[in-house]
Amino acid sequence: MFSLKSENTNNPLAIKDASYLDNAATTAPCPEALAAMAEALQFNWGNPSSPHEHGYRAERLLEESRQTIASALNCKSEELYFTSGGTESNNIAVFGAARALKRRGKRIVVSGIEHSSVGDAAKALQEEGFELLVLEPDSSGIIPLNRLEEAIDAKTVLVSLMTANNETGAIQPIEKVRALVEAAQAPALIHTDAVQTFGKMRLSPQKLGVDLMSVSAHKLHGPKGVGALYVKKGLKLPSLFFGGSQEGRLRPGTQPLPAIAGFAAAVKALPDPESEAARQATLRARLTESLVELDGLHINSPENALPGLINFSLIGYFSDHIINHLSGLKVYISGGSACAKGEKSKVLAQMGLSQELIKSAVRVSFSRFTQNRDIDNLLEGLKSVKENLLKY
Ligand code: PLP
Repeated sequence: MFSLKSENTNNPLAIKDASYLDNAATTAPCPEALAAMAEALQFNWGNPSSPHEHGYRAERLLEESRQTIASALNCKSEELYFTSGGTESNNIAVFGAARALKRRGKRIVVSGIEHSSVGDAAKALQEEGFELLVLEPDSSGIIPLNRLEEAIDAKTVLVSLMTANNETGAIQPIEKVRALVEAAQAPALIHTDAVQTFGKMRLSPQKLGVDLMSVSAHKLHGPKGVGALYVKKGLKLPSLFFGGSQEGRLRPGTQPLPAIAGFAAAVKALPDPESEAARQATLRARLTESLVELDGLHINSPENALPGLINFSLIGYFSDHIINHLSGLKVYISGGSACAKGEKSKVLAQMGLSQELIKSAVRVSFSRFTQNRDIDNLLEGLKSVKENLLKY
């Protein structure tokens, strides 16, 4: 018989007795973010651009928030531009970089496993006359360096490679791209989508050698609808928008201060990335040790993955059926990415996985609130899938 373990006491926001294991899709806002948002909404509602006390107070909070996030990203606060989230940061980066350098070359190199806000933006640039090269991963989900090396030539203006993939957690060799760009004598700007890694790994755009980096608040217990784009000092990108002078005109529009304050509070509340990664690695080991004993179980994520993200297939059962059955038991996981609802995973297909593995693949993702009991609930739930669901 299936029974749920005691409630998740560490996260007062979770549905009672539930195990939320879909943190790569989104996370629950943490108490610190909620408090900061409520405070800003109620007491700091001025327009940061206004020339009076309400404006000054709002501007102070805006700049303090920027400083908090910039410190966590090891960059300068003037290098950080607030946006509406990862999607917008990626669009501004990809279009901006390519158009900024369009006279110096036409080649764009992106990985085939990017989020659609990078992948589809790059396709749209192809229609503007750019030459698009899309690189497939190897069977472990990692973009091989030799494919990057072959693709980057002296006319390359943009290389976009995510820091870690949202479906498999596979960590990409982004820190190796700078040397390849230099060896090819390319003018290319390097962009990384760090939406899934911010808060999970220590990030430094300088150490990674990137010019542009996208992050989003709602993947680290901040609110939805806010993110940031790191733009290396001295770099000027053309904007996609027309409007006021906010965010250096790169992202005009009155800043959503409550959301930004919530983002900063969530970042401040993040645990030390190394010790949290070690804690999540222990949770992962607890999960995989039991998973491998399940008949028909195949782990699709590589060894070199974010500890808190694991993709696996339970052969014989459709992904949707597994997800729905677990959902009935208040264990919440997902298929591929939340944005590609119902579609078969293109990432797993590019890795060369069989149709059998693809149609039964699911993704489990942890956060700083995930505990042993959540893993145990998932394992119980998977046993229940095997006991109660008919195979296809
Ligand atoms: N990039 C990656 C890798 C993601 O996983 C996501 C969200 O799922 C995004 C970008 C989009 O971020 P947002 O939801 O903040 O627009």
